[in-house]
Amino acid sequence: MTNATSNYQVIIVGAGFAGVAAARRLGKAKIPTLLIDRNNYSQFQPLLYQVASSQLPPSDVAEPLRAIFRKRPSVRVLTAEVTAIDAAAHTVTVDDGTVYSAPTLVIAAGAVVNFFGTPGAAEHAYPLYSVSDSTRLGAAIIEQFDKADARVAAGEALDPTNIVVVGAGPTGVEMAGAIAETINSVVPRTYSDAVREAFTVHLADLAKTVLGPFTEELQQYAQEHLEELGVQLHLGTSVKEVRADGVTLSDGEVLAAPIVIWAGGLHAQPVVGQAGITPGRGGRLNVNDDLTVPGFPGVYALGDAANIPDGAGKTLPGLGAVAKQAGAWAGENILADLKGTQRTAFEYHDRGFMAMIGRMAAVAEVGRSHKQLHGSLAFAGWLAVHDVLLPSARPRYNALVNWVRDYFTEDRTEFIVGDATRT
Ligand SMILES: Cc1cc2nc3c(=O)[nH]c(=O)nc-3n(C[C@H](O)[C@H](O)[C@H](O)COP(=O)(O)OP(=O)(O)OC[C@H]3O[C@@H](n4cnc5c(N)ncnc54)[C@H](O)[C@@H]3O)c2cc1C
Repeated sequence: MTNATSNYQVIIVGAGFAGVAAARRLGKAKIPTLLIDRNNYSQFQPLLYQVASSQLPPSDVAEPLRAIFRKRPSVRVLTAEVTAIDAAAHTVTVDDGTVYSAPTLVIAAGAVVNFFGTPGAAEHAYPLYSVSDSTRLGAAIIEQFDKADARVAAGEALDPTNIVVVGAGPTGVEMAGAIAETINSVVPRTYSDAVREAFTVHLADLAKTVLGPFTEELQQYAQEHLEELGVQLHLGTSVKEVRADGVTLSDGEVLAAPIVIWAGGLHAQPVVGQAGITPGRGGRLNVNDDLTVPGFPGVYALGDAANIPDGAGKTLPGLGAVAKQAGAWAGENILADLKGTQRTAFEYHDRGFMAMIGRMAAVAEVGRSHKQLHGSLAFAGWLAVHDVLLPSARPRYNALVNWVRDYFTEDRTEFIVGDATRT
């Protein structure tokens, strides 16, 4: 174990929406800050499904951290796996054994997929939480189309092939809609009709509706649109087991499926739960309204790693906008600590939420009043909001160009060149 001589005022664990926003604010104020992430880039999770369905290349959803902080030299970027956090001692240990310490510690390590103990899910299902998850899944889908194509070329009949998406929240709905659209519109451009006809997308969820957090009207719209795309819905149905060759549903149905995608839930990163702080719901850390961790002076927890109070007795949802705003707010509160002034309670500016279902089809609840939109207006709103959420001008421009290209050409085969091997 090496103790790094630490001249940092702040250590931030995790460079997602929350960590980057906090570091940006601290970098602007020239505060010596160490920003640690296992990746040398910040990934944009809301668009991972578009990488998996070949609508965007991976470079559009991952921005190098050194590029983000080039003009903020007080922020040092360290690419390393954090193996331990000691919240009481304010130390962070990384995978080469080095221990860093600083007066202020920000825990912004996000979440991991939660398989809820479903047998076989960890071994056989594809999660969608990182850029590598999305390229692996995208390559696996294309591999299935290629295999089917080879059988057609050899004169063989194709067996029906299912792709199962588990979890009908926004991630599952977006994923199911995008794959169904690929099968309907993109596959026929590259493969024979027999390939298109062989594939069916299934979407399963224990809930009785898709898109739990949305209004009934928007749920209905989403459900009908998915069905129009040919997605088979299994609502009120959980997945009991995942195997290499498919799933067993709670109603006893067995679906043969070479690809099972897990969009079924999240849990805070294990390292967060081992920081010496008793975790709250979902393994996340409960925080005060100023984003500090009760009983641990100088420790903040943000984004998907935290249960952030909404001021009305509940916690804020795990959204990019919540994480980004909390990161910037924590940056301000750390500056207040350094100046010896009062920290302030986090105020979330709720701009609503949205989900894409397919071309010209999305649902949105916009603004503080959650005005309902669906169809092409929500589709345009979704593109605009997600473009603005991207971390900087380069990915914003590139994503926009690729969306326009995708809209007019529907050619989605060129981006995925990854390895389909699951683990
Ligand atoms: C597939 C998907 C789709 C989504 N769609 C939307 C959407 O449409 N709209 C929306 O608002 N929100 C969406 N979300 C939620 C949103 O992405 C999250 O709420 C947001 O990313 C949380 O930000 P964060 O900074 O807390 O965590 P993250 O963005 O997850 O960042 C955490 C960072 O910590 C790093 N890290 C974790 N553990 C370690 C470790 N041990 N060592 C080193 N580094 C570590 C990770 O590499 C990562 O970079 C989606 C999430 C997913 C997974």
